[in-house]
Parts: sequence; structure tokens; C-alpha cells
Amino acid sequence: MAQNKEENVVIFPFMAQGHMIPFLSLALQIEQKKGYTVTFVNTPLNIEKLRHSLPPTTTIRLVSLPFSAADHGLPPEAESTDVLPYPLIVRLFHASLSLKPSFTRLISELSPLCIIADMFFCWSAEVANQFGVFHSIFNAGGAYGMVLYYSVWIHLPHCHTDSDEFSLPDLPEISPIHRSQLANNVKDANGTDPWSVFIQGQLQLWFSSDGLLFNTVEGLDQTGLSCFRRKKTGIPVWAIGPTRSSLTEKPGNDRNGCIDWLDSCPQDSVLYVSFGSQNTISSTQMMELAKALEASSKNFIWVVRPPVEFDINSEFIADEWLPEGFEDRITEQNRGLLVRKWAPQVEILSHKSTRAFISHCGWNSVLESLSQGVPILGWPIGADQYYNSKLLEEEVGVSVEMARGNRSEVKHEHILRLIDLVMGETEKGEKMKKKACEVKEIIRDAMRDEESYKGSSVRAMDEFFHAAMAMKTRKETQA
Ligand code: UDP
Repeated sequence: MAQNKEENVVIFPFMAQGHMIPFLSLALQIEQKKGYTVTFVNTPLNIEKLRHSLPPTTTIRLVSLPFSAADHGLPPEAESTDVLPYPLIVRLFHASLSLKPSFTRLISELSPLCIIADMFFCWSAEVANQFGVFHSIFNAGGAYGMVLYYSVWIHLPHCHTDSDEFSLPDLPEISPIHRSQLANNVKDANGTDPWSVFIQGQLQLWFSSDGLLFNTVEGLDQTGLSCFRRKKTGIPVWAIGPTRSSLTEKPGNDRNGCIDWLDSCPQDSVLYVSFGSQNTISSTQMMELAKALEASSKNFIWVVRPPVEFDINSEFIADEWLPEGFEDRITEQNRGLLVRKWAPQVEILSHKSTRAFISHCGWNSVLESLSQGVPILGWPIGADQYYNSKLLEEEVGVSVEMARGNRSEVKHEHILRLIDLVMGETEKGEKMKKKACEVKEIIRDAMRDEESYKGSSVRAMDEFFHAAMAMKTRKETQA
């Protein structure tokens, strides 16, 4: 460990909250478990924000690369996708390419052991190559979700057919996907639009990296991992997840409200409902979901955000967006809790009263749920979530998809039927619970780090650093 301190590991996430958080938890894990000096690189405003949320004991070095959003037709403070309206997000993607010269200078000065970069910063593999530095892409998503994401963007299969269902040419082992499983930016893509130009450009460089790291677990994500391995690019694929995130809690959340309330509920009686950190559903879907929750007579915690038609960061108006008197009734009956904006998700999922999760299937939520043996009712809304939901239902058997997207029509009778299926004593519900508990054990085993036994994720992380060290030794011998 003391020797490792002399080696520098450069961590370089894309400028979006959903990327920064898992990269930071990876950075902390590398610092704590491996003892390397970790340099976390990003644009000035993101680094400034991070400075305040780092644990006081960490020695992670934060480095800002100069970036001027205004030079790219963006608002001056726009250094993260989270603060941008949808039409401007793609501009930030293109603007991020301007980081290359200063990143190159940094690498030439640091001579690090390795670079761990975002999938949207694949260009950094060229920089690594230039200086003989080991390079890896870290995917905060799962391998199944990412191999489908990759294939859809590279082939744009929906552009070549009028059919609503299509197979992916490079993934014969994966059942066809439906047009409704495409995120809006892919649906509208044609290969020459700004989204295609950026994403295809980066994904095509994916395999010029020296290895791929996934925040996933071998025993959970076998199909996706083997699809990447079978691409015969010769580069190793390591499943190192789940990275522990100690940073998902935002200050000011209603921790005690939720946990005290859960303490008062019987074991396995509560349904948790959340669409992640940046998604929400439509106002008609919200009404239907509320009706179903009320009719189900099950206990629930629902993290509510204004519907898609409104500013997601504005105040939630229950009287307007939920059936009349909904919140009063569920509070009087002590049946449910509406949490505004942010809930202590990991603690809710690990509470013994929680039985199931209506989730948008963001990969962090998936891992957090399965790590606690909690089955899922999927309601994917964008990006890789559609494919995560497909994995969980078709390959793993821990989920049933309840709805898709935030524009589709959903009926409360259908939602109610699925709530009963997973919360009631049905054969399917029991099977999903049993399977989720098996996956919980698989995840636990992958993370075991004992003298006499190391789980698959721990071994994968060791192998990754051996490979990086081997490249460094080769380079030094040749010099
Ligand atoms: N999260 C939370 N409380 C909330 C909503 C989200 O703690 O009210 C955390 C959740 O535990 C997870 C992350 O935010 O770690 C969301 O990541 P995910 O990949 O599931 O979805 P995204 O928000 O990126 O779409």
C-alpha cells in the first residue's frame, strides 16, 4: 500500500451528476483499498462543488481543466448536463472535446499509472497511447445495458426497418427490442445529427482502450459481459461492482421521517417508488399511479417530483397532481409517505419493512435493490434503463416491467394488478423475491475480500491493477 502511494491513478468522469457520483465512489474505493494517489479531473465548477462533498479524511487530489461554456454557445455556468434543458445537452457533449489539449498537458506532467475515463471521453485513449499510459473506460452502467446501448447507437437498426421490433445485428443471443425501448435522442438519430456524431464517434473509440471496467457483477450480468468479451477485440473486460456509494445522500433529506415510519410498519409490507435522481413521469401517469397505490391498500413510500410537463425542480403540488385529498387520506390511515424530491434510498431498500421497488431501473438503483434482495417493478424512462429492465425480467427473473417511458398511456388497473403480483402472496411474487435473495448472495460473494477468499469483483480489480502495472514495467524496461 505504501508503495502504491507513489503511483497516480487519474479518474476522469463526464460532466453529469449521474457520472460524477459513481466515479467518485470508485475513486474513494481505489484510495481506501489500494492506497494509490488518486487525481480526480473535471471542469472548474464541478471540481468546486465536489470539494465540499468529499469526506474530510480523503487525500484525493482535485484538478480543474480550463473550460468556458460560453465559448460553445452555452450559459456561462453550464458545466453539467443537470443544469441544462434537453436541447442544449448535446452542445455540452461537443464542448467537452475542447478539454483534450489541457488533459494532454496534465497527463504529460503526471505520468500516471493509469487513466480511468468515462465512455464519453473515449478520446482520452489516444492521449494515454501517446504517453504509454494504461487506459480504461469505466462504465457506471451494467454490461447488458451498455452492450445494447452500444449496438443501438452504432447500428441505428430502427432506421433500416418500418417494423416496430428489430434484432440487433451483432447480438444474435439477445431477443429483439421494440421501438418503445429507444431513448428519444436515438429515436430521432440518423447518423448525421449532432447526437449521433458525438456518441458514435466516442463509441467507435471504445475498443482502442486497454480494458473495460463495469460497475457490475459476474454472476448477475453474464450475457452482457460475454457479449463484450466475444467482440474479440482482445481487450479485457472486468466486472468490479458494485462500487460502494457513500455519496448518494443529499443534505437535508428526510431521513428520520422515512426510517421512523418504516420502523412502524410490519416486515415486508412497504412498496418503495422512485424514478431516480433526474426522471419523472407525466401528470396522467402520476394520477393513475396514485389511484393504483390507494386502491392496493399496501403501504408505500413514494419519492415525488413534479410531472414532466412542469419544471422538475419546482415545488410538488399534491392537490394539483394527485387525486383530491390523496395525501391527507394516506397520512390519516398511516398507509403511505410522500417524500419530496429526495429520499435516503439505500436505507429504505435495506429496511426489513421494504418488500418491493417500483423503479426506473437506473443501474445504481438496480444494484442497490438487488444488494438487499428487493424485487423490482420496472418503469424505465430513458437511456440504458430500458435494457436494464429487459435484463432483470428476461434474464434474471427479479422484475416485471410495469410501464415504459413517460409519455405512454398507463391504466391504474394494470399497475394495481402488478402491485398485487409482487406484494401479495402470489407464486410469481414469491419466485421473484426468492430470485432477488439469490442475487443478493451473488453480489455479496463478489465483494468478499478476505485473507483466504476473494470474490469475483475484488479479483477483477486486482487484475486490472496488475495489467496497468505490467504496462508500466514494460515501458520502463524498454526506456
Ligand atoms: N437516490 C437517492 N434518493 C432519491 C433518488 C435517488 O438516494 O430520492 C440515489 C439512488 O440511491 C441512486 C442514485 O440516486 O444511487 C440514482 O442513480 P440511478 O442510476 O438509479 O438513476 P439516475 O438518477 O442516474 O437516473
